[in-house]
Amino acid sequence: MQTDEIDDLVEFSRLLGADPTLVLHGGGNTSVKAPWVDISGKEIQALYVKGSGWDLATIERQGFTPLRLARLIELLELKNLSDQQMVRELSAARLDTDFPQPSVESLLHAYLPYKSVLHSHADLLLTLTNSRDGVKHIQQAFGNSVVVVPYVMPGFDLARAVVHHWTDQSHDATIGMVLMNHGLFTFGETSRQAYDRHLQLTDCAQEYLLQIPKLKFKLNINVNPSRAITLELAQMRRMISEIGGRPLIVSRHVDQLTLRFINRHNLEDLATRGPLTPDHVIRTKRSPLVGRDVHRYADEYKNYFEKNQSRARTEVTMLDPAPRIVLDRELGMLAIGIQSKDAQIAFDIYHHTMSVISECEDRLGGWAPLETHHLFDMEYWDLEQAKLKLSGQTPSLAGQIAVVTGAASGIGRACAASLLANGAAVVGLDISADIEKSFAGPAWLGYRVDITDSDAQTAVFDLAVERFGGIDIAVLAAGIFGNSTPLAEVNKSEWSKVMSINTDAIVFGLRSLHPFLARSPVGGRVVIIGSKNVRAPGLGAVAYSASKAAIAQVARIAALEWAPDGIRVNTVHPDAVFDTGLWSEDLLAQRAQKYNLTVDQYKNRNLLGIEISSELVANVVMQIIGPAFAATTGAQIAVDGGSDRTI
Ligand code: ZN
Repeated sequence: MQTDEIDDLVEFSRLLGADPTLVLHGGGNTSVKAPWVDISGKEIQALYVKGSGWDLATIERQGFTPLRLARLIELLELKNLSDQQMVRELSAARLDTDFPQPSVESLLHAYLPYKSVLHSHADLLLTLTNSRDGVKHIQQAFGNSVVVVPYVMPGFDLARAVVHHWTDQSHDATIGMVLMNHGLFTFGETSRQAYDRHLQLTDCAQEYLLQIPKLKFKLNINVNPSRAITLELAQMRRMISEIGGRPLIVSRHVDQLTLRFINRHNLEDLATRGPLTPDHVIRTKRSPLVGRDVHRYADEYKNYFEKNQSRARTEVTMLDPAPRIVLDRELGMLAIGIQSKDAQIAFDIYHHTMSVISECEDRLGGWAPLETHHLFDMEYWDLEQAKLKLSGQTPSLAGQIAVVTGAASGIGRACAASLLANGAAVVGLDISADIEKSFAGPAWLGYRVDITDSDAQTAVFDLAVERFGGIDIAVLAAGIFGNSTPLAEVNKSEWSKVMSINTDAIVFGLRSLHPFLARSPVGGRVVIIGSKNVRAPGLGAVAYSASKAAIAQVARIAALEWAPDGIRVNTVHPDAVFDTGLWSEDLLAQRAQKYNLTVDQYKNRNLLGIEISSELVANVVMQIIGPAFAATTGAQIAVDGGSDRTI
């Protein structure tokens, strides 16, 4: 297949996007100037530029919107153009309206007199520009091979500033352009050339940095994620969620880079000067909370909003005042978001930020990012807020954290799938090794654990809190049936095994979960998977029936004792759910025979004559943890198709 300059652009954009030291989470943009053939066969000079909603790491041809180049050049002649006007004009300059809205930096790409243009927020570049005497460092590192543009907010004004500085500074050997406190542009006759120049300049920045000796400081710390830490973490999450007006995910990080950073003597001053590049502000807020005083942070945020409100170009409503990054010498770094992917983005961005700040401090004489008012402009710029809105509707359980036992198969797995589908972060436990890969994505953590080892089970709950900040929901679905034996022949070890999994593990699991559920910002909820056997025991199932009856009673005690903590505890009693690990073909045949039925008759042996699936049980569980059951605790809910033995 023949490739063209757009294929090349895709290839090198992906290379740029795949390197997190150059581009993070949707940052950066790229373009190529190439012809567009319209429906009448006429060739038009076009700018193919990254469309919004695309990530450079995964961009495809259809992510590059073709714009009429001549029109863009015309627009650059204007004296003024508001954001709304610019967005409308860029939209109207599309040569095919099936393509997405083009980047807000399109005019700048159009102006640069090269075929291919690549733009990133390279860490190394930002290290140089965000230091005291940033311009001097840039000049020393790059000589006159780059054009230097002081900070201007992206959009029309930036494009105009670029025209001005380009005219003054560019010459035949110019290979790049540095936007102070923002990022790097390189260009060339091909995307490969522009990419090579990107690497050439970042290598150059690295060389420059490394020849400056680094200040050193000693670090003596010990990180031990103990129960005391996870309890404080759950408490912090509750406060942060209350201030944020919704449950939030709070992930704890204590890697070496983070620990070194939070142990700097001037941490508070350093961390509150500003972000790496302005568009990070929508992910991390303008500065982290240093320490734990969430209320003070929220007050300061409100003041900042009130002070700067009049600067906004449009009517603005205050965003929630909760921090997105917390730096605390004992807790480490907490990265916060509505969902775990948002917390992950905030973490990635701040992790790079700490690394750049450290370099600026240790080699370049000090960290000097943008001033607050520029950040407000960016945070409340409707074009930036639109990026967040692009990520779509927030699902009903966003920000909530669930643990599910027995999550590798059957009812547990179906519950985990529903919880994830509704936006919860889920930690699954199972004895099967499949658990680790049962689901994928940042909202899932699977641990292989034997829940009869209560210390091991507790350790997993602590890990869940470290990763997501707390536990709001527990679905306790792990269970075994055991061998069918008449009471007169019951075997002690078999009896103990069934009791230890179906009863003891849940009792001690609940004991360990209680302090987290009590700290849930939205009220803890427990659903225990019981069995119809509690009210209608089965022949030969003495251990199973007794263990399930015991746990149903435990659930009622929990409902009584934990109501003052706002925790609801309910039990679901399914019957004859045959798509679970409990049922083997043999067992099914054996049970059917016991009742003189065929396997099919046995499966639908209920008053309604319907087959009960794990998914159906999971749907009931989802309702119970939802608002419809807000007033229900201590309930025993049958999901059995109706039984003449229990009604
Ligand atoms: Zn940029």
